Amino acid sequence: MANKRDYYEVLGVDKNASAEDIKKAYRKKAKECHPDLHPNDKEAEARFRELNEANEVLSDPDKRARYDQFGFNDPMNGGGGFDTSGFGGFGGFGDLGDIFSQMFGGGMGSSRRANAPQQGNDLRYDLRISFEEAVFGCEKSFEFYRSELCEDCHGTGAKPGTQPQTCPTCKGSGQVRVQGGFMTTIRTCQTCGGTGKVIKDRCVKCGGTGRVKRKRTATVKVPAGIDNGQTIVMNGQGEPGINGGPNGDLYIVITVRPHKLFRRDGTNLYLDMPISFPTAALGGEIDIPTLKGTVKYTVPEGTQNDTEFRLRGKGVPQVRSSYVGDLIVRVRVEVPTRLSDKQKELLRQLDESSTGKEYKERKSFLDKMKGLFN
Ligand SMILES: [Zn+2]
Ligand SMILES: [Zn+2]
Repeated sequence: MANKRDYYEVLGVDKNASAEDIKKAYRKKAKECHPDLHPNDKEAEARFRELNEANEVLSDPDKRARYDQFGFNDPMNGGGGFDTSGFGGFGGFGDLGDIFSQMFGGGMGSSRRANAPQQGNDLRYDLRISFEEAVFGCEKSFEFYRSELCEDCHGTGAKPGTQPQTCPTCKGSGQVRVQGGFMTTIRTCQTCGGTGKVIKDRCVKCGGTGRVKRKRTATVKVPAGIDNGQTIVMNGQGEPGINGGPNGDLYIVITVRPHKLFRRDGTNLYLDMPISFPTAALGGEIDIPTLKGTVKYTVPEGTQNDTEFRLRGKGVPQVRSSYVGDLIVRVRVEVPTRLSDKQKELLRQLDESSTGKEYKERKSFLDKMKGLFN
């Protein structure tokens, strides 16, 4: 982690690069260092991995924004940086598929080496939590389906007691060379589908795929202050790797249900609070709801509609930090309706007693209005 290169540097683009620029840069560089063009070249492999990791982050607007803000020390990832090491492994990343179909005329599978370790697929789980759970943090258990190695055949797909055989067509390489025109094209072996192995007797349990879907339960600690759309990564909880490759990761994408009263923007909470016309005019104590019960607040005399009060530290905590945002209360002065005759009479008396100086804004308006026609 210490000598990780900046993602923009890896892709050779500047910080303001558009999504299109990033895509172009990635494709160009991926062609240069794809491991299939440099067999057994550890350095090319490392460069390719680094490139995929950079692309993974910079091609996703959310991840890019977080990277721009936090660099490799994103608090969402426990400060450990984006853990996308080996992301995509050798194959399985959609974006490169069409580059290689252009180059070899056969899609990604054509260039994948048989028996090469591959990282398992990443999984995504959408977790809905309440507004309060997001603010205060919570621990959630949930069930999800994961494709796992079949224990009857240990993932080989062959009937227990038998073994997959080396493919007779490609002799186990997973690829065949086709001579055509000016060049030799390498294609995926049709017999084995690129795996280099053929199964005579299929395992009954998994139907020869070597995988079975299994229901799993996971428990995730949701940090206080998490926001809608943010992701928690559970490393290694995705699908198992192939040929000894690492497991994929489980991405938990958080959806926060809205609150009846509060709106949230980052660490600040917003509340529209109706108060009566007499309270606004005379001032007085009101009960303001917060996420931890009500607090008393004294509204000053002559409070106008849309006035905002800021209650410090009554907002949302920042993830993995001691900072807590504010609660911003916007006062809505409500004009009373359905008044009784007696109440109307009182208001009339109030109005008749007015000298005009009670209404500063109105007076100024009337003065300007007079000027219009003179
Ligand atoms: Zn099986
Ligand atoms: Zn074959």
